Amino acid sequence: MTSTPLADGGPALPALWPSDAPAAFHVLAKPSGAICNLDCTYCFFLSKELLYPGDRFRMAEDLLATYLRQLVEAHRGPEVTVAWQGGEPTLLGLPFFRRSVELTEQLLRPGQRVQYTIQTNGTLLDDEWCAFLAEHHFLVGLSVDGPRALHDAYRVDKKGRGTFDRVMEALATLQRHEVDVNILCTVHAANQDHAVEVYRFFRDDLGMRFLQFIPIVERATPDTLQVANLGWSGSRKGRPLYTNRGSLVTERSVGSLAWGRFLAEIFDEWVRHDVGEVFVQHFDAALASWLGVNPAMCIYQETCGVALALEHNGDLYSCDHFVEPEHRLGNIRDTHLVELVSSPQQVAFGLAKRDTLPAYCRSCDVRFACNGECPKNRFTTTPDGEAGLNYLCAGYKHFFHHVDEPMRLMADLLRQGREAPDVMAVLAERDAARFRGVGRNEPCPCGSGRKFKHCHADA
Ligand code: SF4
Ligand code: SF4
Repeated sequence: MTSTPLADGGPALPALWPSDAPAAFHVLAKPSGAICNLDCTYCFFLSKELLYPGDRFRMAEDLLATYLRQLVEAHRGPEVTVAWQGGEPTLLGLPFFRRSVELTEQLLRPGQRVQYTIQTNGTLLDDEWCAFLAEHHFLVGLSVDGPRALHDAYRVDKKGRGTFDRVMEALATLQRHEVDVNILCTVHAANQDHAVEVYRFFRDDLGMRFLQFIPIVERATPDTLQVANLGWSGSRKGRPLYTNRGSLVTERSVGSLAWGRFLAEIFDEWVRHDVGEVFVQHFDAALASWLGVNPAMCIYQETCGVALALEHNGDLYSCDHFVEPEHRLGNIRDTHLVELVSSPQQVAFGLAKRDTLPAYCRSCDVRFACNGECPKNRFTTTPDGEAGLNYLCAGYKHFFHHVDEPMRLMADLLRQGREAPDVMAVLAERDAARFRGVGRNEPCPCGSGRKFKHCHADA
């Protein structure tokens, strides 16, 4: 890589600022496209390789310069996020990322700040990488699905071997260099019934404070289900390109109610012990909704369309979950990013999240927090037969109802000028009164249906 800025040759900022341009937006850039050094069984993104047959899957240096220039130009506010993802972005090698930082620093206008983020499986991170990530204050999203057996259930390499040890080694190196790490934990058939075990592993064994849980929902049609169940590795014969079609799900996918229970069980542990110490993205988003503030997660917002995905060749897609031909907005070599982000196609994509919500959702008592979640998961029908209900609906109803009381409490405390962690003392008092004198083998008074000793006895 050269050390001087490139005349990148991409389109210039349009003379007239597009009227629909958002104040801020987020792009997940995939410099290696769908290419990854692992073969996680549930990773349907591996199949996106089929979108670009014969390609080298490597973002060219002039395109990198075009992208970063357009990204900085398209942000009028003080904050710009440069976010890398894959596939596995570290396959591009450290010189690519050194160059990306060098270019970004040259491009920032006075008063503009940058946040670098990268999502990685961690297996290629060494001391040199981690020193670089620390130096530039990268926020690293590291994929870990729980303790060894749960992680290795699906997170395997090209030879089908578990990756747990390699990821733990990477985490230790990241921690030694004091890099900010967010755990990205997918929730699926193998770990969905181990919520508290997974949470305690992250909190106690790994010492992690920032957690994101991501439901695995792999859609399939009757024609694709059998092959989809085998996984998305390039070594599978007849692997289809994954698109958001079909109303079946693979056997690895999380169950709808299981997803809600997973979140609810972790919430019970968190709200009694860890508020203000451990940050779980879904809980922060829910609290924002209970406070009447827009949650930070697009899936819970009324509309979306400001979280896009950039492929290695400059193709821009409406969203990371819609990298498929009909959601390709154009290429940043031909059209400036700000024009693509504000294009009628993208505006319509974002508004459709609200405008296609079934009546069942519109009259739902937790719609203010759920908003029908992500359109990619809306492929079931409502009880009265309307299409477009979210596959995870039962889980979301369970979770949002479950957290209603403590969320109200936390929101009230914050409105009174107190702090969210004060909720732990309030709940401790309530629990003491509610659970006093309950026998360990009696049904738990919380109504879970479980014995007290298996439920709130420890609370
Ligand atoms: S489609 Fe889903 S993930 Fe994509 S921006 Fe909309 S809500 Fe977010
Ligand atoms: S909980 Fe279900 S019905 Fe309610 S808004 Fe969410 S998806 Fe719709």
